[in-house]
Amino acid sequence: MYRSHTCGELRESHINQKISLSGWVHKTRDKGFVVWVDLRDRYGITQLVFDEDRTSSKLLEQARSLGREFVVQVRGEVIERASKNPNIPTGSIEVLVEDLVVLNTSKTPPFTIENETDGGEDIRMKYRYLDIRRNPVKDSLIFRSKVSMEVRKYLSDQGFIEVETPYLIKSTPEGARDFVVPSRMNEGQFYALPQSPQTFKQLLMVGGLDKYFQIVKCFRDEDLRADRQPEFTQIDCEMAFVEQEDILAAFEGLTKHLLKEIKQIEITSFPRITYDDAMKKYGNDKPDIRFGMEFGELNTVAQHKNFNVFNQAELVVGIAVPGANSYTRKEIDALTNWVKRPQVGALGMVYCRCNDDGSYKSSVDKFYSQEDLAQWAAVTGAKPGDLICVLSGDTNKVRAQLSALRMELADRLGLRNPEEFSPLWVVDFPLLELDEETGHYHAMHHPFTSPKPGQLALLDTDPGAVRANAYDLVLNGNEIGGGSIRIHDAATQSTMFKHLGFTPEEAKAQFGFLMDAFQYGAPPHGGIAFGLDRLVAILGGQETIRDFIAFPKNNSGRDVMIDAPAPIDEAQLKELNLKLNL
Ligand code: ASP
Repeated sequence: MYRSHTCGELRESHINQKISLSGWVHKTRDKGFVVWVDLRDRYGITQLVFDEDRTSSKLLEQARSLGREFVVQVRGEVIERASKNPNIPTGSIEVLVEDLVVLNTSKTPPFTIENETDGGEDIRMKYRYLDIRRNPVKDSLIFRSKVSMEVRKYLSDQGFIEVETPYLIKSTPEGARDFVVPSRMNEGQFYALPQSPQTFKQLLMVGGLDKYFQIVKCFRDEDLRADRQPEFTQIDCEMAFVEQEDILAAFEGLTKHLLKEIKQIEITSFPRITYDDAMKKYGNDKPDIRFGMEFGELNTVAQHKNFNVFNQAELVVGIAVPGANSYTRKEIDALTNWVKRPQVGALGMVYCRCNDDGSYKSSVDKFYSQEDLAQWAAVTGAKPGDLICVLSGDTNKVRAQLSALRMELADRLGLRNPEEFSPLWVVDFPLLELDEETGHYHAMHHPFTSPKPGQLALLDTDPGAVRANAYDLVLNGNEIGGGSIRIHDAATQSTMFKHLGFTPEEAKAQFGFLMDAFQYGAPPHGGIAFGLDRLVAILGGQETIRDFIAFPKNNSGRDVMIDAPAPIDEAQLKELNLKLNL
C-alpha cells in the first residue's frame, strides 16, 4: 500500500498514529541537525521531519539527497509540531519519518511549482504536466469537473438523456471552417470533425428521444482570436415539442442551479432584451448589464446646430460616465486617444462635463448652448458629476466603438465585479446576416434556425429584416450559450437553403439526410448549447479559459507540449493517397 492517508489529511487527531504517505518533494530545508521536507500531492502538503536525535544517520542522509519533485513514499508517526503553521490545514502536525522509499527521481523542473511561478506561459505549456501540479491550474481543473458534474446532475434530473454523437462526420456549418480527416478506406474522401453536433441532435429528436444533452468537443478551424481554442467543449442540448419559452425556462433553471451550487448565489432575474435593443442601448449583442452607461442617441438634439461632424454622421451617440467629471483634461485627452487607437477606430470624441452646480462645459461649446447640453444629459441620463462621452459616424461602427469605450470605462471604474452575476437573454436575432465582402447573406446562427412565424415570405423581399426564433444567454458581457427553435419541415428547410445560396443539388448532397428525416414525422424542436470552457472560467471569476483546459492550444493552434500539428511520413501519406503540394 503506497499510502494510508493523503498529504492534505492529517490533523492533531492523528497524533501518535503510524501512517504512510506518498507524494512529491515540494521543498526541503536542511538545518544541519534537522531536515524538513514538504511532501505534496493533489490534496495538500504535509511536513516531514528527520532529526539527529530520532532518525538514523542513514535516513537523514537519504533525506538530504532528495531533490525537488522526487516521488517518495514514507512511513512514520504523526507528531505535534513545535511551531505550528496556521496557514495550512495540516499545519499543527508533522510526520517523524521512520522509513523512506524513493519511488522516482526528478530532473530540476524548468519553473517553480508554486502558486506564483517564475515560468512564463510558453514554458508552462511545454511542461503542462508540471504546470498542472501547481494549485491554480489543479484547482481550476477540479473546479471544471465540479461544474460538469452539476450540469450532468441537473440535466439528468430534468429527464435529459446523454447521447454521444460521432466525431467523424460531414460538414455541419456553424460559420467556421471544418477540420478534415482523410479516409484511408475511402480513397480521396474526407470526414469533417463536427463544428457542433447540430444535425445529429436534431435527428435524435426525430428519433423520439425528446430531451438530449451531451458534454461534447466541437472543432472549428478559425483564425484564432485571443482566448479561443480550435477544439472546445459545449454543453449541447435539444428538446422536442418546445417553443422558445420552454427552452429559456429550462436553461434559466440550469444557470440558476449552477450559480447556486457552485457560487452559492441565488439569481432570480433573467431579463430579456431584443437583439435590436441590445445594439441600440449597448452597441453590442452581448452586453454586460452589471453596470449602466446605456447609450443615449443624440441625433435629434445634437444635429443641425452648425457642428458639421455631427450633422454629417449617421448616428450621434453618447454615454454618461458616472463621476467622471473629476477627470482632468489630460485624462480626457488620454481617453480620446484610446478611442482613436486603430483597434477601436473612432475619429475623435466629444465630451461634456456635468458640473455639480448644474452647468455644463463641453468640448464643443461653440456650437451648443447650456439648454442643448441639458438635453444631452437628459438623453444619456447624466447627473451632476458625470462626464458625457459622445461619438459619431456610421451606425454600426460607432456603436461598436462606443461599446468598446463603455467596457473600458467600466473596467477603469471597477464596475465589473467578477463575483457579481448578471445573466441576460438576447432574443429575436436576425435570421440572416449580410457578408459585406461577398454581398451574400448567410445564416446568423446556422441554417437550421427557424424564422419567426409568418416571416418566411419576407425572405424574398427583405431578407435582412427577417427575425429568427434564436436566443443567446449572456453572462457578464460574455455569450455563454446560444440556440434556436429549428425548422422541422423539409419545404421550409429547402427554402432556407435556397436563400443561403445552395442549389437544390448541393443542398441534397450535403443535407439530404436531414431533409429525408423531416419527411418521417419530425416533431417541432429546438435547443441550445453553452460553451463550457467560458462558463467555467466566468464562474471561476477568471478572464481566460486556458487554465480551465488541461491541455490547451496556443494562439497559433499548436499544442507545444506534444508538438502538434506535425508533418506525417511518406508512408502514411501514401496509404491515404495524399500528395503534398508544398
Ligand atoms: N449548434 C449551435 C452552436 O453550436 C447551438 C444550437 O443551436 O443549439 O452554436
